[in-house]
Formats: sequence, structure tokens, C-alpha cells
Amino acid sequence: MTSSLRPLVLAVAGAGVISLGGLTWLGRDLFGAPGNAGGRASLLDLLEEVRQSPPDGGASPTHSAPEKALPPPQAAWRAPLGGACQADPALRARLAGLAERLRYDTVRLRIDPSNYGERFRRDAFGQTLDTTPQVVVLHETVFGINSAINTFMTPHPRDEDQVSYHTLIGLDGQVVEALDPAKRAFGAGNSAFNGRWVVTNPELAGSINNFALHLSLETPLDGENQGGSHSGYTAAQYDALAVVLARWMRRFGIPPSNITTHQHVDLGGERMDPRSFDWRELQVRLAALGVLC
Ligand SMILES: [Zn+2]
Repeated sequence: MTSSLRPLVLAVAGAGVISLGGLTWLGRDLFGAPGNAGGRASLLDLLEEVRQSPPDGGASPTHSAPEKALPPPQAAWRAPLGGACQADPALRARLAGLAERLRYDTVRLRIDPSNYGERFRRDAFGQTLDTTPQVVVLHETVFGINSAINTFMTPHPRDEDQVSYHTLIGLDGQVVEALDPAKRAFGAGNSAFNGRWVVTNPELAGSINNFALHLSLETPLDGENQGGSHSGYTAAQYDALAVVLARWMRRFGIPPSNITTHQHVDLGGERMDPRSFDWRELQVRLAALGVLC
């Protein structure tokens, strides 16, 4: 929320409480919601919500959710990961060894609290939410991994600057856990997945952050630009990625069809990441780890 808009919204919410006696849900969610990038509702939209409040005053948070509870139309995700029960024994052994090493060879950060939040148990319309991660979104860092880490460690008072992923994977395969999966990373602003988003602030568009895990791959040097492609990711990155994903899939019951990209979930049409991602490299490794069967 911009500081210039906040007094206006307060005035609208306050007027609603006085005149209709029951718009506390609007005020509560406006104040309680953490930062979330995305499109902003106009004042007209907010006034429309005031007008549409139920005549009984709307004290119950279960009044019908506005159309904003559903995202705009979006293509369904066609998962590139298919069923595969034939595992390469040598690859399986290599990845099992890596999984063991990563138990102690994972860097764990304490990023600045302004860059993430808690997972919401109710949306802006009072609907109960499942806080279990259900989707994994793949990203790339564009610049080096240390640049991303510095960004996450830096306090960002303005909502639009706040960003985080749960996990980063360096070109050398180093796994960096930036945020516990239980927390809500600010990885994709205006976003949806297969007809779902979560609106946590009626002033803003929804996003998938409340039910997503975000993982970002370090971009190779030749990708530090806005080009459409680069030389791709290393075998060490695909190895570590598969191990992390397999762990999340088992722990949270996430199906392979719910592993997607920032490019796909982004509703603004501006994101391309992760560019030059090779799904076959991931497929063969996840098959070896036994999570595609
Ligand atoms: Zn991204």
C-alpha cells in the first residue's frame, strides 16, 4: 500500500463502519495484511465493496466474497513432468548421497522480517485458508546469488521492494535456505495457479504466495540481462534442485503437476523466469528419486 493512498482508504473504511455499522472486516484486513505486490484497487472498487456489503451490517466474515476472490482467466498449467517409474540406479545413488550431504551442507539464513510474512489462515473475505504449501514456483536470480541474498537481508519498508524466496541454489549446487517453508515468501506478486489465488488485502490483487514455495536458481553470467535465454543451469544445480523438490513433495504431498514457473503464474505477463530451464534434466532426476511414480 502506498502511503498516499492509505489515508484515503482509512476514510472509506471508517465511513463504512459508521454508516453501515459492519465494515470492520474491511478495516481489519487492510491493517493486518502484510505487503503484497500487485495491482491496486481503485477508490471506485473500494466504494463498490462498501455498497455491496450485506444489509445486516456484515459483522460475519463469511459474507459472500467479491469476484476478487477468484483470479482473472489464465491458461491451465501443463506439467512437463510425467509419470516415470524407471529409475537410473547410478543416478539414484548419486542423488541419495547428495541428499545426505545436504543435511549438513545447507546454508541457512536469517533474512530481514520486512521481506516475508506468516501464511494467512483467512483471506480478506473471511474464507478459511489451507496454509500447507501446495505449489512450487521456480525462478532464477538474474544476477549472482549473493546479490539476491543481500536483497533479502536488507530491510525494505516499502511493500513494492519486499521480496524473498524460500531456497536459492548456486551455480556450484550450494543450497541456501533463506526462509522456512512454513513462512510466506514474497516471491510472486500478481499471480495465480490453475484458477486460484489468495487475496489478503482487498486493496490489492491476489497472489499464490500464501500456498506457494519459491525456489530460485542462480543465473549464469551470460544471463545477467533481459535476453530471452542464456546458457542454462549446471548439473550440480539440477541435482540439488531435484533433492530439494523431492523433499518438499514428500513432506507436503505436492504432486509433480504442481511444480511450475514464475513465468506461468505471473498475471502481469512480465516475468520470463526461469529462462532456459531444461525440464528433461529435472524429470530424469525426480524419477531417480522415486517421486514421479
Ligand atoms: Zn521470479
